[in-house]
Amino acid sequence: MDRARRETPGCAFVTHLNNAGAALPPAVVTDTAIAHLRRESEIGGYEAAAEAAERVEDVYRSLARLINCAPDELAVVENATRAWDMAFYGFTFGPGDRILTTRAEYASNVIALLQVARRTGAVVELVDDDEHGGIDVADLARRLDDTVKLVMLTHVPTSGGLVNPAAEVGRLTRAAGVPFLLDACQSVGQLPIDVAELGCDLLSATGRKFLRAPRGTGFLYARRDLAQRLEPPLLDLHAATWPAPDRYEVRPDARRFENWETNYAAKLGLGAAADYALSWDLAATTERLTALAAGLRDRLRERPGVTVHDRGARLGGIVTFTVAGVDSTEVRDTLSAAGVNTSVSPADYAQWHLKGRGLPDVVRASTHYYNTEEELDLLCRHLPSPR
Ligand SMILES: *Cc1c(COP(=O)(O)O)cnc(C)c1O
Repeated sequence: MDRARRETPGCAFVTHLNNAGAALPPAVVTDTAIAHLRRESEIGGYEAAAEAAERVEDVYRSLARLINCAPDELAVVENATRAWDMAFYGFTFGPGDRILTTRAEYASNVIALLQVARRTGAVVELVDDDEHGGIDVADLARRLDDTVKLVMLTHVPTSGGLVNPAAEVGRLTRAAGVPFLLDACQSVGQLPIDVAELGCDLLSATGRKFLRAPRGTGFLYARRDLAQRLEPPLLDLHAATWPAPDRYEVRPDARRFENWETNYAAKLGLGAAADYALSWDLAATTERLTALAAGLRDRLRERPGVTVHDRGARLGGIVTFTVAGVDSTEVRDTLSAAGVNTSVSPADYAQWHLKGRGLPDVVRASTHYYNTEEELDLLCRHLPSPR
């Protein structure tokens, strides 16, 4: 704990329980990004990128180690949504093609899904929840056949404590030969991630959340043989070449999902964040942040007028709750005035996951391994009273 907090400058200023929004970066991440920006100012942006070329390649190697894939199966882009979109819009769907997903899918993914369904006549099908609120794997098994063109799942939803059994989904999609697109935005950095074990073909993630990288960073994993078949919806002179006047060729590796101009400072910061995560025992950091979240749920349940809303056979570091008679935005603002950072998950961002359960906007407190029991107590002390 001493090391974790010493290496996280923000711990001295705030009680940060908004790690599912954007976690506090360790000093090495910020220093890495700033050092590159400074170099750009000293010798020029192109020249600084050339000087850092090998370290930029290391970013892919570090991310590859973090999720157990090959560096050429990774695209580094500006956020998780863009990573997800570049994969999703690369598929060709036709009338009657079935796309399976769940109620806890992320809002941006659902909006894209509804657009593609409207354009192509593909059919969106919701797999049932199990009795704990996660994906019902038996129901998925019943629905899988060769009319299913894609299964998409959010590993850890943004608006609840749930950890979905992604590896069980991967076993089924592999056996059925159906591509599996996993949104791992909240799970990379929170849990140990191994794409071979998860059995996903595509995985999207962001830098700023549990991975503790700068904002405006994200990445896509695309299994090699699928990456070679999936044509990105947007191409440029980085993703493709123009070998003859009337022809283009898409590059063979996953960088076909990137575009040419990029924020090198942030990208190097992302690599530093992956290295930093790898410098810890990821099983131990997961255990720590999960225990802190469980401790926070226990504390909240003891308080009159507070309801905890997380459901799932397995729970992670996201805690959602409401205080009776108090708007969740007011709860967040009251906590914020006391130096405790949380956020609000609006029900409108989760039509199926929150609204479908009759829930309003909820307060979201999300723990990281650098948080302390005292910080959980502080949050509870500053909660507004129920009305
Ligand atoms: C935050 C989030 C996203 C979007 O990530 P961006 O980097 O903001 O694009 C996608 N899926 C889930 C589950 C998220 O929590």
